Parts: sequence; structure tokens; C-alpha cells
Amino acid sequence: MLQEERLETDLERLDRTAVWHGFTQMAHYNPMVIERGEGNWLVDCHGRRYLDAISSLWCNVHGHAHERINAAIREQLDRVAHVTSLGMGSATAAELAGRLVEIAPPGLEHVFFSSDGSSAVEAALKMAFQYWRQIANPEPQRSRFLALGSAYHGDTTGGVSLGGVEHFHRLFAPILFDPLRGPCPDAYRRPEGMDVDQACQFYLDQMQRLLEQHPGEIVAVVMEPLVQGAAGLIMHPPGFLAGVRRLTREHDVLLICDEVATGFGRTGRMFACENEDVAPDILCLGKGLTGGYLPMAATLASDQIWQAFLGEPSENRQFFHGHTFGGNPLAAAAALASLDLFESERTLERLPAKIEQLAAELAPLAEHPHVGDVRQRGLMIAIELVQDRATRQRFERAEMRGRKVCQRATDEGVWIRPLGDVIVLMPPLSILESEIELLGRTVREAIADEFAGM
Ligand SMILES: *Cc1c(COP(=O)(O)O)cnc(C)c1O
Repeated sequence: MLQEERLETDLERLDRTAVWHGFTQMAHYNPMVIERGEGNWLVDCHGRRYLDAISSLWCNVHGHAHERINAAIREQLDRVAHVTSLGMGSATAAELAGRLVEIAPPGLEHVFFSSDGSSAVEAALKMAFQYWRQIANPEPQRSRFLALGSAYHGDTTGGVSLGGVEHFHRLFAPILFDPLRGPCPDAYRRPEGMDVDQACQFYLDQMQRLLEQHPGEIVAVVMEPLVQGAAGLIMHPPGFLAGVRRLTREHDVLLICDEVATGFGRTGRMFACENEDVAPDILCLGKGLTGGYLPMAATLASDQIWQAFLGEPSENRQFFHGHTFGGNPLAAAAALASLDLFESERTLERLPAKIEQLAAELAPLAEHPHVGDVRQRGLMIAIELVQDRATRQRFERAEMRGRKVCQRATDEGVWIRPLGDVIVLMPPLSILESEIELLGRTVREAIADEFAGM
């Protein structure tokens, strides 16, 4: 599609010049201005339709403009749009907290609300840090976090400090705190000669060594369970999460799981932790919490952590953290409606068939000479493009293969956005059979066309 063929509208110009888009090179930005959504589709201001195959950056769950979520927001709007959660609360947020405690991994009984995933992580870090200073035998020497290689936990300063994606995070090093850096437990780029189980043990041994080398220093291990999203949908060897949970118990360190990306059905279960029967001490949720409709995030904590914050007002043990819009009732109403839809539409029960269908659609790609890996966990799929399959050698960054493949798909009406040379497919859980077919076919053709003649 030649962009020059049509005149830029006023809104497209503003979108290109007045709006500063995140993680977007504005000098090369072609405006794509969305006017409305219908189910799993987005419609731009020229009436062009796109299948939203990355769920509006990984947050949409049940499709756009779903009448039940829309109605819940409207109904709440007629009561009250916002009340603070500092020293008071809203009925809707209270109901949501109760529901989250019910569905979360066991032991997570208290919910701290914020507005986006990065804030949920910040709250988790400060909560864990303050916890060690307020337990019966305080351990104020604990001030380090252990994060994984290529970690991503959001773009606020604490999240970026934990972050290990070189080309996002290195620049900011002088203004960050320094975590202990664990391995990146990558099942695809695992050490030469190891099978996946051996690699799991290899990565766990590294975690164990770090925990042993820093006794009494570590506040918490922070990790994305199962899949490291922004790193390129890096998938952990099965058993790694359960292994880290065991190690953190043995070494008396807290475990913070960041399920901002993996939560709410993405991996096939409500939460990724369920796949390995793990309950962290602190759980971060965001993205899909409201079905992807309104900004809301949550940090869930165990009762053990909560107890350390109780006392007389004069003792100053309360959590020293809070956001203006934490627990916003409109967002809470959307989240409750989304959880209702999980039940009434049997969203999780219907997933296995979709997961299998998409895997079958993508299976032929495994033969392609420039596809190094097709990996999938539920409805999180990565297709990694490589120069050389045998050596897993990457393309030069400047070739922008991932971006070009995604542009081809977008031109055909399937909206996807890559992470470097990793093609990410993360459709809404509501994606239909016919849409999975379209997605599979479009991506196969986009890759075939990109490498035609090579
Ligand atoms: C997206 C994401 C975040 C940050 O969430 P925002 O809402 O963008 O601030 C944090 N952690 C993980 C794992 C994420 O995928």
C-alpha cells in the first residue's frame, strides 16, 4: 500500500506531529488512526478494517466494544466515575478485589490497585522492600532484587532498573538501581548440546548460586512466569518457575511474579503460575485485567506480607505508596464485566481448540529456511526470523525483517507488531475460527513474500 496515494487527513497529521507515540520512530511513523472497534477488528478513519491480532498491545481479551463491558462502564458512570482509594473506597473496587482474591493463586488475599502494569511492579518492589523492615525480626540489610536476563517489567524507573533488554534499558543505566542479574531461561537459545530439561536445571543452578552468594541481601526474585513477553516471547523450560519457587522458599526470599502480560487467560489458564502450581508472594496484574478497556493494574499480596504493615497509626507501618486513580470504579466495573464474560462465554474452556487451530495454521512455517523457531504458549505465539536456521544466527538489525513482515500483514488487513525479528501473534481470546484461518494464512504469505527469491 503506497501511503502517498491518499491525502493525509487533519487527524492523521495531528497523530503524526502532536502525539508522541511510545516505542515508535516518529520520523518514520505512518499514521494509523483508529476510529472504532468491532469484535476482534479495528476500523481506521478511512474505513479500513484490521484484525487486531496483537490485542491492542496484549491487553484486549473479549474483543472491542463488547456490549456487556460497555454497558457495565456506562452503568458505573451514572453512579460515580471516580473516588479515591486513599482512606476510603468504592463499592465496585471492593467487589473486584474480592473476585481477584477468589481466582488468584492460593494465599494472595490482599489487592493494591494502580493504573498500569509498570505501577503494579513499582508497588510490588516497594511493598517487598518495606516488608523486610517491618517483620518481627527486621532485616533492613535486604535491599537487592534478583531479576532475570532480558527481563521486562515496565517503563517506570524501578521497572527499567529490573529490565534487562539491552536496547531499551542500557541508555538509562546511570539513573537506575542495580539488581542481581540471573540467567535468561531461554528454551530456544539454550546452551549448545543441552536438551530442554538439562537447560532448566542449568538455569536453576545459576539462580541457586546467586541466592547462595547473597544471603540475607535479597528482597525478592522478580520474574515473568513462563513467558518473557517484551524480550521477544522468550519461553522458559517447563519446570523453571516451580524450581524458582522452591529455591526462594529454601533461601527465604520473596517471589514476585509479574503476570501483567501472561495473566487473564493468555497462556491457556487464568494465570500462568497455575501451569506449574505456583503461588508467588506478590502477583502483578495489568493489561487484560479490564478486558483491555480501561487503565487498571493490581498488586496482590499474601497475608504474611499484609500482616507486616498492620499497627497503630503512630507506628508508621502503613504502605507508603498510593496512586490518584488506584481502584478507579469505571475500570473496576469493566474488570468485573470481563470476569463475568470469562464465565458466561466459557472463555477458558473454549481456548484449547483455538490454541490447537492456530498451532496447525502455523505448523508449515517450521519448514521455512528463515524461521528459526515457532513457539507458542496458549495464545502467545512467537515466530522468530533468523538468517540461518542451523546456527540460529540473527539478521542484521538494520534489515528490519520483522517490521517488514508485519507491514505486509497489516497491508493485508491483519494488524501485528514485531519485537525485532520476532513476529508476535497475540490475538484476543475471543478470536473466531475464521479469523484464526485468516491470521495463519496472512502471516504465512507475508513471510513467504518477504523472503521470496532469497
Ligand atoms: C506491559 C508490561 C508491563 C508494563 O505495563 P504498562 O501497563 O505498559 O505499564 C510490565 N510487565 C510486563 C511483563 C509487561 O508485559
